[in-house]
Amino acid sequence: MLFTQNKPTAEVLESLGAEKNIFLLGCNGCAEACETGGEKALSTIKAELEKAGKNVTSTTLVDFLCNKVLVATRLARETDNIKQTDSILVLSCGVGVQAVSKVVDKVVHPAANTVSLGGLQGLWPSDERCQACGDCALDYTGGICPITFCAKSLLNGPCGGAQDGKCEVDSEKDCGWQLIYERLEKVGRLENFKKIRTPRDHSKMLPSSELRKTSFYDIEV
Ligand code: SF4
Ligand code: SF4
Repeated sequence: MLFTQNKPTAEVLESLGAEKNIFLLGCNGCAEACETGGEKALSTIKAELEKAGKNVTSTTLVDFLCNKVLVATRLARETDNIKQTDSILVLSCGVGVQAVSKVVDKVVHPAANTVSLGGLQGLWPSDERCQACGDCALDYTGGICPITFCAKSLLNGPCGGAQDGKCEVDSEKDCGWQLIYERLEKVGRLENFKKIRTPRDHSKMLPSSELRKTSFYDIEV
């Protein structure tokens, strides 16, 4: 089970900025159990967005958003809606947001923070990874995780050591920040590089003792 918690609505609205037409995509797997995805969470966030003057172009649920085949198949039916949309707000764990950004050339925004990977995970057949940092940055990085794709987990751009797009730590691995740059360029969001993220609060990686006592965190405490 990947445990997620909703980002505050104000943070979600700030990340959407001036974007008007929003496609809502929710996960019906782990996120549904955490009430950050599923039907109920979709209708709650839809109401909040509409109250804030946004136009919701579609609300779509996929059983496991971490499975890119499922995501691509389901979104193929929504091609027209996606064309009209400015961005996709994804109600899932960080892996689900990354999976969506891989299969659709649209700006993606995470609606939740992933805070624990404890226990059994959803379907995860690919290379996207989440370290449950508790403060998801995928909004800023175009849907590519800087914590897991950069060997140094840098949050504010590359270290400067990359050679020909490869990481200085492992020359067989693409530089995560090169991938982020290419992705932001593709979706027209290079201005994100002008934003500065505050230093990481590592305490957010520690699930609360309350959470660790629940079945959402399936290890001994
Ligand atoms: S930024 Fe990366 S590690 Fe943090 S919640 Fe998002 S996907 Fe997970
Ligand atoms: S070369 Fe790129 S991926 Fe490697 S540590 Fe530096 S910024 Fe991160």
